Amino acid sequence: MRVTTLVENRGAGELGGEHGIAFWVEVQGERPLLFDTGQSGILVQNAQRLGVDLAHTRAIIFSHGHYDHTNGLSTVLEKARPERIYVPVNFFAGHFRGEHKYIGMNFTRQELQARGLQIVSVTDDVIDLGSNVFIITNIPRSTDYEVVTDPFMIEQNGQLVAEDFQDELALVLRTKQGVVLLVGCSHCGVVNIARHAARVFGENRIFALIGGTHLVSADAARINNTIADLRDLGVELLAASHCTGEKAERQMRAAFKEKFCPNVSGTTFSFP
Ligand SMILES: [Zn+2]
Ligand SMILES: [Zn+2]
Repeated sequence: MRVTTLVENRGAGELGGEHGIAFWVEVQGERPLLFDTGQSGILVQNAQRLGVDLAHTRAIIFSHGHYDHTNGLSTVLEKARPERIYVPVNFFAGHFRGEHKYIGMNFTRQELQARGLQIVSVTDDVIDLGSNVFIITNIPRSTDYEVVTDPFMIEQNGQLVAEDFQDELALVLRTKQGVVLLVGCSHCGVVNIARHAARVFGENRIFALIGGTHLVSADAARINNTIADLRDLGVELLAASHCTGEKAERQMRAAFKEKFCPNVSGTTFSFP
């Protein structure tokens, strides 16, 4: 199994970067999957430079509905014809920061359906995508410190309410080394997601954690608690980036040492 970061906040060499994230997931015996699409379509150029053919995309999984994970989709669809698009239950509701700043996607469910795309709103805790890849959601709150502090709002019944992100989607790869967990922004708490992933698969460890952990606005206590709890989960490879924030990344690197892997556009992770 192989995970390639198609775009991330930081570019590398000829590969572009932008505030956003997208992963290419290759498995044996099945066509590859795309997890999130970044915000502008840079991932398509990066994919070309990396020799990744997006035309092979079997399915796209969106972690959540914010623009920096979704708006690359229109550019991707110029190349790819995925069988399915998996989305969180509240994906197409309007996402806002505060009352006025729209931070959702630039497409609607109807537009995608008009293009003949099949959209799956994920309600089950686990969806088996075959070849040991799974979508997980319905993330319970198991920590008391992972609260959503940013003013993220969602439109429900014509009203803006605080978003709890319980419907966020994460991807689990079951490898010989253990659970590999891919996350988008972890607005619902990265430790909440990681504990849930371990529990769902009857494990008490997470081998690898790759993606955004949204600690950019976290206080020192939350960062320390997160690092301690990820160590308790036995994480052997930590590739936290995107909305993790420089401060938390620095502390993670200090705590995890060689187990911390910087993640930028083009970074590849292979698992037997
Ligand atoms: Zn987000
Ligand atoms: Zn994000």
